[in-house]
Amino acid sequence: PKERAALGRVATVGLEGAIARRRADFPILARTVNDRPLVYLDNGATSQKPQCVIDAEAHYYAHLNANVHRGVHRLSQEATDAYEAARDTAQAFINAAQREEIVFVRGTTEAINLVANSFGARFRAGDEILITGMEHHSNIVPWQLACERSGAMLKVVPVADDGELDVAAFEALLSPRTRIVGLTHVSNALGTINPVRELIALAHARGVPVLLDGAQAVPHLAIDVQALDCDFYAFSGHKLYGPTGTGVLYGRRALLEAMPPWQGGGDMIRQVSFARTTYNDLPYKFEAGTPNIAGAIALGEAMRYVRDVGFDAIAAHEGALLRDATERARAFPGLRLIGTAREKAAILSFVLADVHAHDVGSILDHEGVAVRTGHHCAMPLMERFGVAATVRASFALYNTHEDVAALFAALAKVREVFG
Ligand code: PLP
Repeated sequence: PKERAALGRVATVGLEGAIARRRADFPILARTVNDRPLVYLDNGATSQKPQCVIDAEAHYYAHLNANVHRGVHRLSQEATDAYEAARDTAQAFINAAQREEIVFVRGTTEAINLVANSFGARFRAGDEILITGMEHHSNIVPWQLACERSGAMLKVVPVADDGELDVAAFEALLSPRTRIVGLTHVSNALGTINPVRELIALAHARGVPVLLDGAQAVPHLAIDVQALDCDFYAFSGHKLYGPTGTGVLYGRRALLEAMPPWQGGGDMIRQVSFARTTYNDLPYKFEAGTPNIAGAIALGEAMRYVRDVGFDAIAAHEGALLRDATERARAFPGLRLIGTAREKAAILSFVLADVHAHDVGSILDHEGVAVRTGHHCAMPLMERFGVAATVRASFALYNTHEDVAALFAALAKVREVFG
């Protein structure tokens, strides 16, 4: 066992070494803020981009720029090939069964609005939509709008004191009127990794489809939509080291086939006449207008990059950072952690006694440490924990133990200033 422990240590050091080399891939991490090296711990809001992603976007505009699916000319064909290759990469990235199940969107928010409008067209008065108390506003408001249109009702699964979902309440709230479950895979404000397989099985046992909000999961966990058995999976490119304004909606083919288009325009049609318009095949039925071609291609590059680093290495490294940060947080005077679930992604949310989160954020910024402060687009969750705002440090594959130390050194400065 001693030998095995030593081997384990060697393996971990190896992983960290491989990860450490990746830091140089991100040019922005070399800059300074307030004459201090940038310590970027706001990855939950958006992550930084490796050079290969920046290059992929620039390469498209320098060499391939043309509209897709429209021209017989060479550039249009090459642009179409690159755009569709990115769809194949996305399909493989989340292990979707078919490429037609991958719809390119602007991000998680647009993906959920698409489902709430299109799948939601079938909601009727008295129907129920089940969400949870830890959802981002993007997985609350589209459903509230769907309720306003249809007369359906929103039901909310409560969150326990440690930031875990109440699974028994989830099961009890599934009713014969439940039409869909909207559930975050990983909470952006708490870091909680929800037991989504178990929750999906409970919903499916009652014939209820499940949409997973994967915005905070995709940078940290290998996603297999077939193993999860989810019906919809939504995520943003910009939190996954890809460009802003990109994202993916995965939908089970049978469901997407049965859903009406959401937005109308070019590309989503087969035949248009003033008497009757027919719609294109999947996934184009849901991609109205010229898409973010360069963005999708660069997102494909980001997915290749992350796969190349590997989720085992990412999980080992980010897990070590989270343990380090959590231990320091527990020892820090007056610090209250918000969210102490057993299964957590590398997100640390906390408040400091008697100091407003924004004041903490300002002093941290002065020290070159970027964190998010505020309600994290999860106001009902803040209310649940009796706080107006938290400080959130969220880690990515390029963060280091030095970054964690810098965070707590800066927090010590906050203590000096506020006593
Ligand atoms: N859902 C979760 C859990 C998030 O963290 C976010 C972004 O912060 C979103 C949805 C919305 O993502 P976007 O603004 O990229 O559409």
